[in-house]
Amino acid sequence: MKVGFIGLGIMGKPMAKNLLKAGHQVCVNDFKKEAVEELVAAGATAGATNAEAAKGVDVIITMVPNSPNVREALLGKNGAAEGADKDTVVIDMSSIDPVESKKIAAELKERTGMEMLDCPVSGGEPKAIDGTLSIMCGGKKEIFDKYTDLLKAMGGSVVYVGEIGSGNVAKLANQMVVAANIGICAEAMTFAKKMGTDPELVYQAIRGGLAGSTVMDAKVPMMLAGNYKPGFRIDLHIKDLNNALNASHAINMPVPMTAHMMEVMQELKNHDEGSCDHDDIIRYYERMTGVSIVKEK
Ligand code: NAD
Repeated sequence: MKVGFIGLGIMGKPMAKNLLKAGHQVCVNDFKKEAVEELVAAGATAGATNAEAAKGVDVIITMVPNSPNVREALLGKNGAAEGADKDTVVIDMSSIDPVESKKIAAELKERTGMEMLDCPVSGGEPKAIDGTLSIMCGGKKEIFDKYTDLLKAMGGSVVYVGEIGSGNVAKLANQMVVAANIGICAEAMTFAKKMGTDPELVYQAIRGGLAGSTVMDAKVPMMLAGNYKPGFRIDLHIKDLNNALNASHAINMPVPMTAHMMEVMQELKNHDEGSCDHDDIIRYYERMTGVSIVKEK
């Protein structure tokens, strides 16, 4: 299949490489020229603009930060819609506001006749690299069926959730759970340390029980190592929680736990930690308690 791939950041780069490995022809674009060069060295071609990357392809994949970036990449000046055929399908894999996703899909359809799926992912950089992302998909079922195999080149789990926007509803639910889960892991590990009990041993003791989780196994070892290298940046998680708050308030639903985690993340941002991994929530507890769980080397 011929794929135009827009957005070669932490996630997009390995995802595009996995499409190449699966035998697809990939034409890429990003503002960051070194990322484009890396993909060209791996076998991709490059378009000078998003419109060029979209020329003559079957599918355009976008993997950019947020709704305005998706809109610009697809519908902006020199955007993909200017270069693509009307039969080209857009698969937006960015995590964005589901309401915006619906609007962008409708505008795309009206302006060009093109169809769109929203297929955000979970799993972070490690799963993007080994091609085992969880992919949650919204849009017309017959279009999803046609591109399931393409998505499987990047994902270990590819699940159809419903109409356009549903993929991002699932992703926001995922981000709400992840934020609260990291928060309580940080709180519990700090509690153990302040009680005079080794948090690493507490982690080993509880990880196999009901409290254990993928989040706990991914993030507690990072907290213990004092490793805040992203991974998934606090700024992006703030973006997701902001989208979750907007979407839930639009349907008159209070989301108190999500709102609380948003405020915790604002504290981190205020300490210039927006570019740190979201395991950095541990430093909010460190500042509040004066206790660090980082293991002495
Ligand atoms: P990133 O900031 O590392 O990369 C985004 C890339 O998009 C950048 O290289 C940027 O230059 C490019 N870009 C932005 N607008 C563009 C445009 N108009 N045209 C061309 N290129 C453009 O972000 P990321 O971590 O790769 O995340 C991408 C998306 O995936 C986000 O929506 C994020 O929430 C989601 N996500 C990230 C992770 C993670 O662990 N990093 C996990 C799951 C989902």
